[in-house]
Amino acid sequence: MDERYSRQILFSGIGEQGQHRLLAARVLIVGCVALGSAHAEALARAGVGHLRIVDRDFVEPSNLQRQTMFTESDAAKRLPKAVAAANHLREINSEIEVEPHILDVNHSTIERLLETCDLVIDGTDNFATRYLINDACVKHNKAWIYGAAVGSYGVTMTIRPHQSACLRCIFEEAPPAASAPTCDTSGVIMPIINIVSAVQVSETLKLITGQHEALHKSLMQFDVWRNEWRRIGTGAPREDCPTCGLGLYETLSSAAEGAAVLCGRDAVQISPSQPTRINFSTLAERLRRLGEVKFNEYLLRFKTGNFELTVFQDARSIIRGTDEIAIARSLYAKYIGT
Ligand SMILES: [Zn+2]
Repeated sequence: MDERYSRQILFSGIGEQGQHRLLAARVLIVGCVALGSAHAEALARAGVGHLRIVDRDFVEPSNLQRQTMFTESDAAKRLPKAVAAANHLREINSEIEVEPHILDVNHSTIERLLETCDLVIDGTDNFATRYLINDACVKHNKAWIYGAAVGSYGVTMTIRPHQSACLRCIFEEAPPAASAPTCDTSGVIMPIINIVSAVQVSETLKLITGQHEALHKSLMQFDVWRNEWRRIGTGAPREDCPTCGLGLYETLSSAAEGAAVLCGRDAVQISPSQPTRINFSTLAERLRRLGEVKFNEYLLRFKTGNFELTVFQDARSIIRGTDEIAIARSLYAKYIGT
């Protein structure tokens, strides 16, 4: 241990005792897209003893520009991201345990995934999953580290249930469906991934080693293209917060499911978590570069590869070309955005 982790042990914030804590820690990484794969590599190298990695997608060539964990061979084999990541992590550090799960994180899976882990690091690409993580972590009193990046902008915040504000204390609702850009519609550059992941991983190390006074206790925002950096204190939990104040864990109930396989039609219907009204011309503008788009006043149709997404004005969508909810949710998160 001394040789491999010697430089980290020399660092006064970690030391010998901190390294033992890292080796004994169990971290859940939700999502293994750009941020998730950056977290996984950093935590494996730091010697976090057990990494549970959950992702529902496969490696594609368009991932390689920023998802540093994956190789051309992973994309050619269309390996599940969780499995490809686990393979590489075992080569980076054979002394830790890596547990891949090819799974959709939803109300029926999140609590089981969380159960034996000490904390959660957000590596996902959509708000629906983040509110789910927030509810589950507050309910089970586990810390989690929110992080997101799109374009050249990124944001992160660390949540310690009942000690600091939770995600819903700060953002009561997720942005309405189709209102926010996604990496698949507006692009993303790798440097912002590295910055957000670096802050999230540092916070993870502080939490595991018990150095709560070193946490940044804020909503940190960065734009590496506009050269803007902002830090807003997040303060204490709000008493009227539905999640950490009132204990209503809405996203954990089956009523929040919002997805259904349409029998015999090779299609899945996804419903948005909150009512909204989509502006079709704005959405069409974003999708036009990525595939064929047509719309009228009632619906928008978008074809990409073997899939066809039909989006209604209330953001409900029918995704043809699959009968798997995980694939449909992934396409919805990428192209419509939640
Ligand atoms: Zn709260």
